Amino acid sequence: MAREVFDELKARVALLRERGIKPGLATVVVGDNAASRVYIRNKMKACADVGLHAEVHELPAESSVDAVLAKVRELNASPVIHGVIVQLPLPRAIDARRVLQSIATEKDVDGFNWANLGALVDGHPRLVPCTPLGVMNMLERARIPIEGRHAVVIGRSSVVGKPLALMLIAGGATVTVCNSKTPDLAAFTRAADILVAAAGRPKLVTADMVKQGAVVIDVGINRQPDGKLVGDVDYGPVSAKAAAISPVPGGVGRMTVAMLVANTVTAAERAGA
Ligand code: NAP
Repeated sequence: MAREVFDELKARVALLRERGIKPGLATVVVGDNAASRVYIRNKMKACADVGLHAEVHELPAESSVDAVLAKVRELNASPVIHGVIVQLPLPRAIDARRVLQSIATEKDVDGFNWANLGALVDGHPRLVPCTPLGVMNMLERARIPIEGRHAVVIGRSSVVGKPLALMLIAGGATVTVCNSKTPDLAAFTRAADILVAAAGRPKLVTADMVKQGAVVIDVGINRQPDGKLVGDVDYGPVSAKAAAISPVPGGVGRMTVAMLVANTVTAAERAGA
């Protein structure tokens, strides 16, 4: 599916190129973080494959919030940059919310800006967060109907669970959003036609928690002590019951990167309109 998305994006990038526009993505990184490096490498590679201009701006871990805000301002004003993202997590001393809100709304390709989240709440999405967009895209490409189905989302973060719930609501699903305080999680998950796990808890969803024939999407990424990545779903036994299921790794993660590139292309198209 990610490959399909990339092929479609290449065609849109070619049309932009005819108009003299090359979509540009800038990533701001503060300090060093091994996991972030892997994500950034994947994003840069995806941008290069599709024909985007991509740049990484590295700032030292001890940077002041003013220095980070100044970098974002510079990128907001750059004519060759259409998307700006700030790699999370930021060092503790830096107010992440303030930094994320300083990204220009039309270049906010992570969709974390309050203006973009507000547009999503109001049912008129502009740029939306990449991971939930990737989940919706997967459901669409797999031709899984949403309208009239019961979707259960485990997790209520602003990055995944909450925006995904809004997108599923917009698609006509009846949506239940669970969190760490939900009593008897299994009672909710067993009632799901579409179950999305985004809790960050390895093997939280076991086969007895899933209805026969349900669609299961695993957003979780958990690193095991042996270095292996696993999702939130006990993949083997659950896949025997599910009508469709997404793996970790190689599932939502790849679609998330594809959606970041898609949002950057969309931002470039709008800037050139
Ligand atoms: P987060 O901010 O830590 O939120 C996790 C959510 O899960 C919280 O709402 C939490 O409830 C809930 N939760 C935790 N344990 C639970 C339990 N036992 N039962 C029910 N709910 C539980 O994490 P996030 O940023 O949303 O990310 C979630 C997972 O997705 C992580 O593994 C992350 O690495 C992964 N992720 C993957 C991608 C990708 O590209 N595939 C992108 C982003 C995130 P409370 O609110 O009550 O604490």
